[in-house]
Amino acid sequence: MAGSVTVVAGPSGVGKGTLIRRVLASDTDLWLSVSATTRAPRPGEVDGVDYVFLSAEDFDNLREAGGFLEWAEFAGNCYGTPAAPVTDRISRGVDVILEIDLQGVRQVRANLPAARTVFISPPSIDALGSRLASRGTEDPAAIERRLAAAQDELAAAGEFDCVIVNDDVEVAANQLLAWVHNPANEH
Ligand code: 5GP
Repeated sequence: MAGSVTVVAGPSGVGKGTLIRRVLASDTDLWLSVSATTRAPRPGEVDGVDYVFLSAEDFDNLREAGGFLEWAEFAGNCYGTPAAPVTDRISRGVDVILEIDLQGVRQVRANLPAARTVFISPPSIDALGSRLASRGTEDPAAIERRLAAAQDELAAAGEFDCVIVNDDVEVAANQLLAWVHNPANEH
C-alpha cells in the first residue's frame, strides 16, 4: 500500500518544527521531507538535515528541471520540496510529512489530492509576534514580513482538513500524532 502524505503548515514561529520533532520521536516509521531553500542557514542548522541550502541559481535549475513537488517564495526566499525522495518513499509504503507554507499546500492539494492537511494555529497573533521576536533568528524587517504572511495564512485555516491550536505543546503534539495515525483520515 502506498504511504500517506500529511502536510503541516501554519505561520512562521507557531512551533511547527517542535511539534513535528515530537511526532517523529514517537513514531520512527514516519519520514519528514527535507526541503531545499535559498535562505541562509541559521546557527546550528545542518545542510542536508534541516534543509538543503542552495544558491538561487541552483534552486532555479532544479525548479526548471521539474525537480520540485511544489515550491514557493516566502518572505524573500525560495523553498521547495524535492519530488523524488517523496514519491520514492510513498511508493515504498512510507508515511511522509511535509512542512511547507500555504502556497505549497495549495500545490500539493492539486498534485496529490490524497494528502491530508493540518494547520497549526497560534493562540493569538500577539503570541506569534512575541515568539518570533524572542526566537532572535530574524531581523525586525524579516519579522514584519513573516507577520504579514501570518495574517494571510491564518485567514486560510478553513481550507485545511484539521486545525490544531498550539497553546500547550504536549497537547498539540498528541493531537498531531493522533491525526497522522487516524486511519479515518484516509481519503
Ligand atoms: P523558515 O525560513 O522559518 O525555515 O521557513 C519559512 C516558511 O517556509 C515556513 O512557513 C515553512 O513551513 C516554509 N517552508 C519550508 N520548506 C518549504 C518547502 O519545501 N516548500 C514550501 N512551499 N514552503 C516551505
